[in-house]
Amino acid sequence: MMQFLFRFDRPREHQAQMIEDIYAAMQQGRSILVNAPTGIGKTDAALSAALTYALNNGLDVFFLTPKISQHAIAVEALRGISEKFGGGFSFIDLVGKANLCTNEAANMLPSESFYPTCEKLMSGRKCQFYTKFKETGELPQNLLKSASMGHHRFFGEAFSEGLCGYYSAIRAARNSRIIIADYAHMLSPYTRSVFLKSISHSLSNSIVIWDEAHNIVNLASEYLSSSITYSVIERAQKELEEIGSSIDVSYIGFIMKAVSQRKLVNVTEAFVERTDFPKELEDEAESLADSLEKRGLEYLEKSSAKRSSLVHLSRFLRAWSGYDETATRIISRHGPSIRISVKSLFPKKSLEVLREPYANIFMSATMAPINMYSDMFMLDSSVSKNYESPFPKANRIAFIDGSITTKYESRSAEEYAKIAERIGEFRKHIPGNIAVFFPSFNVLKGTARHLSMAKTIVQEENMNSTATGALLEKFARSRDTALLAVMGGSLSEGVDYRDNLIKGIVIVGIPLSVPDLETRARIGVFEKQFGGRGFEYAYTTPAIIRAIQAAGRAVRNETDRAVILFLDKRYIWRGYSSLIEGSVGISKSIDYIGEIDRFWGSAAKSAEKGRQM
Ligand code: SF4
Repeated sequence: MMQFLFRFDRPREHQAQMIEDIYAAMQQGRSILVNAPTGIGKTDAALSAALTYALNNGLDVFFLTPKISQHAIAVEALRGISEKFGGGFSFIDLVGKANLCTNEAANMLPSESFYPTCEKLMSGRKCQFYTKFKETGELPQNLLKSASMGHHRFFGEAFSEGLCGYYSAIRAARNSRIIIADYAHMLSPYTRSVFLKSISHSLSNSIVIWDEAHNIVNLASEYLSSSITYSVIERAQKELEEIGSSIDVSYIGFIMKAVSQRKLVNVTEAFVERTDFPKELEDEAESLADSLEKRGLEYLEKSSAKRSSLVHLSRFLRAWSGYDETATRIISRHGPSIRISVKSLFPKKSLEVLREPYANIFMSATMAPINMYSDMFMLDSSVSKNYESPFPKANRIAFIDGSITTKYESRSAEEYAKIAERIGEFRKHIPGNIAVFFPSFNVLKGTARHLSMAKTIVQEENMNSTATGALLEKFARSRDTALLAVMGGSLSEGVDYRDNLIKGIVIVGIPLSVPDLETRARIGVFEKQFGGRGFEYAYTTPAIIRAIQAAGRAVRNETDRAVILFLDKRYIWRGYSSLIEGSVGISKSIDYIGEIDRFWGSAAKSAEKGRQM
């Protein structure tokens, strides 16, 4: 029996199988897709199998996540392994430059201005942290030791030493066998090559673990997309005038207006081609982007501004003239404002990175249908594995109520009133907080007007992370309260509602993307790429995945109990029901209110009595 580097005494249910499956794939040099529900311990399983194989075979390991907040669990797992097995390997938690920058003059800047500012400080020898780093041969021992304690600790040590946190981390990473980093380090082709070179690692000699792998394609697309409005050009021109530059960008605004007058006749959005713009603009885009970036930096240095529209415009020009062959260009009107967007529809070039490593481990709790992801990752030969939830099935029941729909053409005050009535009825039978997730803010607002519940907490549009955090804290202290939020947002994905905070979830409608030009173009590109499966891969399945993500917020450990209600007749349709069936498990009971009462026993009745008193 193989001795795996595993930090606990024994693996959980299904976890042992997962470790064996991943290790077997590594032995064959094949990538593996792991679709496993919350609670199995995916991070420990993947790290245990990958690390055991890598250390025995002279390979390195990258553990990549879409968000920095997800690094902590990998750090904890690796520290546990290191303590149990007496070390023997080094690892580091690497985050982006802005998060490890120890220079207070730069690290408070928004990202679009931070990077060029850092470059300028470095090249002018004006960053004392970088200068000291360059003069330091060996990094201090206390700093090297902190590399395995998470990036916050590393940042603190680097700051105390007066060294640049980022470049110190990069130097420390050169001798690390395991590197925890962000998707952004690998999915952007330019960033990847600079990053790998700087840490002297190669992907062909590495196993790459992709956490929350269902995000890979979307994030790779986002990194290649950009947009500007007419007012960005106006502000950029003012910035140029303020620094006394002779460059004139106002002609880009005139061109934009002229194109909008031609294209936006009786429509609010239209495709544009590069050929709709003067050839000179196309030819000069790259060099113009370079000089605008320099002027943007000059503007930031001379003014007290934290952002520069010149830098924004320069980024847009790079995306406009970029290499992505699936990019679509759209001009649109939003009230008085005009916007031009470059959207990557399927980032084929960026995804080529998945062919480079010795092997990949893709893991997620919502990578279903798993074949769709193996198609999208475009790997010649990979292994796909689905695992069952380790939590007792009896702790969760789910139903479909097909008496309403949020289909666009059926939306009306009457339909919203019916939805509110169904939510109100459901709420009466749940002994505690509920969460109601809507397909959009429009449906949320339309329904909220008809809800007669006393205690609600409502997600607002464009809430920043501080406001979202405050809302979550308030909800965590609440009793018998309904949280109203949207699917695909920060309250329905990637957030843990601990201690069985939510006892019931209502999924209202199907969160399909707005069928605008971008969505339709993406369906077209996917249609060609995946042999006629464009509608499914680009439109319906991502929507169901968003619904399943939201439905998964209530049961987060083996003792949590909850009821889930899918409220829309389309959930009965085979294409949709088969997807949620596999992830959630649907009761066929017609009397679902009676079933809910039996599920909670006397708890629901006493809670309802309490609410009436
Ligand atoms: S060199 Fe380092 S410390 Fe200086 S501004 Fe750049 S990231 Fe910050």
